[in-house]
Amino acid sequence: MPAPNFDVIASLAKRRGFVFPSSEIYGGMAGFWDYGPLGVELKNNIKAAWWRHVVQLRDDVVGIDAAIIMNPRVWEASGHVAGFSDPMVDCRNCKLRFREDDLKGAPAGIACPNCGSKGTLTEPRQFNLMFATHVGPVEESASVAYLRPETAQAMFAQFENVATSMRRKLPFGIAQIGRSFRNEITPGNFIFRLREFDQMEMEFFVHPRDEDEWFAHWVDARHRWWTDVLGISADRLHLRPHEADELSHYSKQTTDIEYDFPGLGWAELEGIADRTDFDLRAHATASGRKLEVFDEAAGEHVVPYVIEPAMGVDRAVLTVLVDGYTEEQLAKEKRVVLRIRPELAPVKAAVLPLLRNRPELVERARALTAHLKPHVSAMYDDTASIGKLYRRQDEIGTPYCVTVDPESLDDGAATIRDRDTMTQERVSFQLIPGRIADLVAGRVAWEGVPRGA
Ligand code: ATP
Repeated sequence: MPAPNFDVIASLAKRRGFVFPSSEIYGGMAGFWDYGPLGVELKNNIKAAWWRHVVQLRDDVVGIDAAIIMNPRVWEASGHVAGFSDPMVDCRNCKLRFREDDLKGAPAGIACPNCGSKGTLTEPRQFNLMFATHVGPVEESASVAYLRPETAQAMFAQFENVATSMRRKLPFGIAQIGRSFRNEITPGNFIFRLREFDQMEMEFFVHPRDEDEWFAHWVDARHRWWTDVLGISADRLHLRPHEADELSHYSKQTTDIEYDFPGLGWAELEGIADRTDFDLRAHATASGRKLEVFDEAAGEHVVPYVIEPAMGVDRAVLTVLVDGYTEEQLAKEKRVVLRIRPELAPVKAAVLPLLRNRPELVERARALTAHLKPHVSAMYDDTASIGKLYRRQDEIGTPYCVTVDPESLDDGAATIRDRDTMTQERVSFQLIPGRIADLVAGRVAWEGVPRGA
């Protein structure tokens, strides 16, 4: 099945409580979206999977959680005040604004992509993407501060504190997950390009002589995370090394991890950049601090090089939804299934009474839900017929549904149904929480049999 387009995903996301347009009752706001009850779970699961693999399972990376607003001198030193801008073009007729990169050709020669009028596009002008605000009660130039456009700069600004307090030697990394803000000229494609989004970035400090080896390590490790941990189809993912003329000012080599989105084509999910010593040197010069470490082997101080894997959480959410979405034709109806890895699923187990007007079944099913909750995220639902309840859970990617039926009252067992195969297992109540926790964690294999067999 070809991947679904963004409209299909945005509609499912809204209908099922994953993502809503921000402040929708007032008409929404371009580039801002809210995560609903299921979306926040999915997003948290993706963040946890990154933190676990990039920080907790390694002994050479530590985390921080820095303030979003930093001393504005950070953004002067980093080059963002002077250079974090996109060339933009305005249409004099319809007043819309476009990224020059998105126009196919020189503005003078082409028609406005929105209103179609010719000769109305302006020459490109630089537009700084940072949101500015004022700190304190007085709005004067001295009080200007910026909402961070990336999380990375806090890792450079805190380099000395982290290295000293954690007694770190090269190589080591500092990771962070947090909000970033960019006044994007053309937000869109659902949650692909936002003005407020979450990033997961890690600055890995290495001896300059080791930069190529660590660059290759992180490109490989990050690619494997997308396929093995997030479960994204390998044939819709590729690595794209940047050409020399598209490298950022701070980067010596960059490789993007891209996904082939329907209607959009290959687009960036993550970039792995070799930032050299650009940032530490810039901050050392601007702050007057020595941002370096002592290399015992060489007996000298060095300014480390930095390898940075940087990704957007929202793009990962979008990719998981697009890549997992499948439609199947059953005998009587179409089944929509979100085939996402169980670890990522917002709900791991849904407990459903076969007959909702039988109080003993409802009571049993509710008690089972309470027993499941300490082990895996579980929910109880009896708001529709069993067939509808299954479809709802399939659509939100719940890997296991547990059905409590009249027989359960006699045999003290219930039926677990597997989302992907729709096969079933009969398991006694006491063993269900452990069984589902093991299945979700991949510790045991599913042994289901077809329904009625
Ligand atoms: P793009 O070329 O798409 O604007 P970028 O190269 O500017 O992205 P980086 O500055 O390298 O992006 O940021 C690292 C990651 O943060 C990106 O790979 C992307 O996943 C995410 N990201 C960047 N900008 C946005 C945005 N406006 N909305 C959502 N995610 C974003």
